[in-house]
Amino acid sequence: MSQSVEFTIKGAPVRVTPIQTGTITIKRCHHTCCLPERAPMTARFAAILADRRWADPLPIWTFMIEHPEGIFIVDAGATPDFNDDASWTHDPGAGKLLRSFLRIDVGERETLPAQIDALGIPAADVSAVVLTHQHIDHTASVPAFEHADTWTTEAEDRAAAQTGSCPWRWRWRTDQTRIRHIDNEGIEPAGATRGLRATVDLVADGSLRAIHTPGHTPGSVSVALATDQVEIWFTGDTSFTADTMNRRLQLLAYTPTCPQCGGFTDTSMVEACSCRRTTGTTPNVSRRQWRDGLELDRHNSRGERSVVGRAEQNGLE
Ligand SMILES: [Zn+2]
Repeated sequence: MSQSVEFTIKGAPVRVTPIQTGTITIKRCHHTCCLPERAPMTARFAAILADRRWADPLPIWTFMIEHPEGIFIVDAGATPDFNDDASWTHDPGAGKLLRSFLRIDVGERETLPAQIDALGIPAADVSAVVLTHQHIDHTASVPAFEHADTWTTEAEDRAAAQTGSCPWRWRWRTDQTRIRHIDNEGIEPAGATRGLRATVDLVADGSLRAIHTPGHTPGSVSVALATDQVEIWFTGDTSFTADTMNRRLQLLAYTPTCPQCGGFTDTSMVEACSCRRTTGTTPNVSRRQWRDGLELDRHNSRGERSVVGRAEQNGLE
């Protein structure tokens, strides 16, 4: 069962619930980026297809944010129809190819709509769904939220179209889906910023923002929730696991173990915030700190890649 964590915003309660919609298993070459990102995409893709070894399954996370101004979802997870040949009749070749290098294991009761319904939240009550990106393990339940705005970027639409998701073949959206584009409607940050682009305020009090943060994909999005206690960043597939993250940034991502203390479990990752407190570091990762962290990391003496830079290695899924 999902474990919620309570915060406040100007004293009003806000609840964050991580919801796991099954697992995804990828090839080891994919997981470890066996070819560097400078290699052509076709070569990297061929290496993944050729690899016969599978990595350990990764949890597919979504998040529900019960905010004083509405209910918001970050990512729409996976659904069992990925494994159903009938759902691929419009494009059987794509189905066969995808399932040759991605395994998704999710039951009907593990889908996002089923789990929030079990928590007493009807899908119709959700105000908006924010997609960190459009990979298949982040988008499948979008059709269940037909009354919600679905935030993505036009950059992501273009990238998805280039990789075969022709507009008439979207598995996750129809003409009725209320698509909104952060890079069209958002405000570009003033001055030079690395990694952060157009931003949309999802609520009037400014405490919940969706930000175009290209990296894992050209149209990737991060969501920032500023509570009275901590600022939480939901960063999608910026990093597949905690050990590939930049520890100094201390971002909260879809990571099964904490980069600081390793002390929280899959379903209570939001506890990473309190974990940070116990290490004596600031629990508040501000936008400025995050931006400066990227700058620092891109130029650090060890020559390591930044979080966004690392994620660029993982551009396939
Ligand atoms: Zn992805």
